[in-house]
Amino acid sequence: MSVNPAVEALKQVLPADQLHLQGTDEFNKLNASYLSALEAEILPAAIVLVKTTEDVSTFLKTIKPFVTSRQTAFAIRGAGQQPLPGCANIQGGITLDLTLLRGVELDIDTGIVSICAGERWGAVYEKLSHHGLGVTGSRSAKGGIGGLALAGGLSFFSTREGFICDNVVTYEIVLASGEVVKCSADDNTDLYKSLRGGGNNFGIVTKYHMKTFKQGPFWGGSVFYYPPSFPDQIDALVHHLNDAQVETHVMISLFFAAQFGAALGLNQLYYTRDVENPPILDPFAKVQPQLEQYNSMRMINLKDAADEQASMSASGIRVAYANTTVKADAATLKAAAEKFTARLDTVKDCKGIVFSLTFQPYPVSLLEKCLSAGGNVTGLTGSSGPLVSILVLMNWENKEDDSKVLGVARGLLEAIDEDAKASGQAVPYKYLNYALDFQDPIGSYGAENKLLLQNILKLETSELILLMLENASL
Ligand SMILES: Cc1cc2nc3c(=O)[nH]c(=O)nc-3n(C[C@H](O)[C@H](O)[C@H](O)COP(=O)(O)OP(=O)(O)OC[C@H]3O[C@@H](n4cnc5c(N)ncnc54)[C@H](O)[C@@H]3O)c2cc1C
Repeated sequence: MSVNPAVEALKQVLPADQLHLQGTDEFNKLNASYLSALEAEILPAAIVLVKTTEDVSTFLKTIKPFVTSRQTAFAIRGAGQQPLPGCANIQGGITLDLTLLRGVELDIDTGIVSICAGERWGAVYEKLSHHGLGVTGSRSAKGGIGGLALAGGLSFFSTREGFICDNVVTYEIVLASGEVVKCSADDNTDLYKSLRGGGNNFGIVTKYHMKTFKQGPFWGGSVFYYPPSFPDQIDALVHHLNDAQVETHVMISLFFAAQFGAALGLNQLYYTRDVENPPILDPFAKVQPQLEQYNSMRMINLKDAADEQASMSASGIRVAYANTTVKADAATLKAAAEKFTARLDTVKDCKGIVFSLTFQPYPVSLLEKCLSAGGNVTGLTGSSGPLVSILVLMNWENKEDDSKVLGVARGLLEAIDEDAKASGQAVPYKYLNYALDFQDPIGSYGAENKLLLQNILKLETSELILLMLENASL
């Protein structure tokens, strides 16, 4: 079996500057531009760039016979910001790169913004800022649209507006047949629901139509402090989550970074209205002692807030995420922090290490929106909350440290899950975008949702996409 016939067929239907073979300069540049070196080390035979929805349709129709005969498989790449190796790249196959599929259009009358699949959230925020509007998107300006709008996705505004996927009113998608369809709460409703959390399993989404809302500058930034205060910050977070507030977004982290040589606490805090120093954030913003020189709390606009988040993440080095979800229970979160601290010594000498534990909020107001407009497939509902998403993030430099770092992350997550289960605080949900390869996010949505996804897969794509997407998660 060889990928060459598929590549030859693609050469016949696409301009030369849209197909780059392994080893060429343009290929090397594109393949090096993933967030994580783990993803960039994967070498497809060719990278195909598409500029229009028609290009995507042509791509799928052209490679279909080669895929069904299992001569090749392909991966879909948005902005390449998800670190899981193989989720947006494919060894020896064909990677479909969406980054030239550009365009952001705002319909002033309806307030719907239409975003092409190759955009990044920073460009969307820039456009909307001229109209005093905001949208639920990544907290990082560099994030791609697809990864978040097909997986759930937390934004600065999620407490008020829900997950990112729950703010998509229409998806334009190219199915495995090459057919372009639209799905919404009125059209292709099962497919619509499946895309809200179902990831890349159903085709290639080319455009996202999303709700916007009036949004001016807001209060936000970061506060750094010392680890002994972290347990009190956990108490404050749990209290905060139980006290319904739709304008706040509070993330608290404990991290070790080689550059600091010590563990630190970090709060990332937002109050999404034009109010300076809102008292509701005081327990987190005024934590003492803190590293005053790093305190960045200020009035900020959406684009600047997302630029600040983007600047805090490294790229081009080894990056991995793993996650779980628990009930908002202080004892469980404190136990998780202790387990994290106990593992620091094992990894702290790895070159370039950043090892962090972040608690992100899933308040009831967010979870209730999971049922809006036909719902999503995450299996989450308001009655299960408030919840806390636990993200373990690792950056490191050397391949030789892969198994040590990844092993520590896995051991930590398993220990947290075991502990939460024993104390009745466990929740099955795993966020697709933060999952590591040993985790099963789609399975965590529950049997009923998984069955819906599998049925949609058969109905919409005659199982073809399963063959096409070797990295499909269903
Ligand atoms: C600095 C930083 C900040 C982050 N902040 C947030 C945050 O605020 N909230 C949050 O929820 N997550 C956040 N994340 C995680 C983020 O959700 C993921 O990294 C996300 O997957 C990135 O999307 P992407 O399109 O760039 O990813 P890619 O790596 O390009 O793709 C991710 C997955 O989506 C699929 N996909 C992408 N586009 C399409 C499409 N058009 N059609 C079908 N499938 C597609 C790909 O096949 C792949 O499986 C952050 C990550 C970083 C590095």
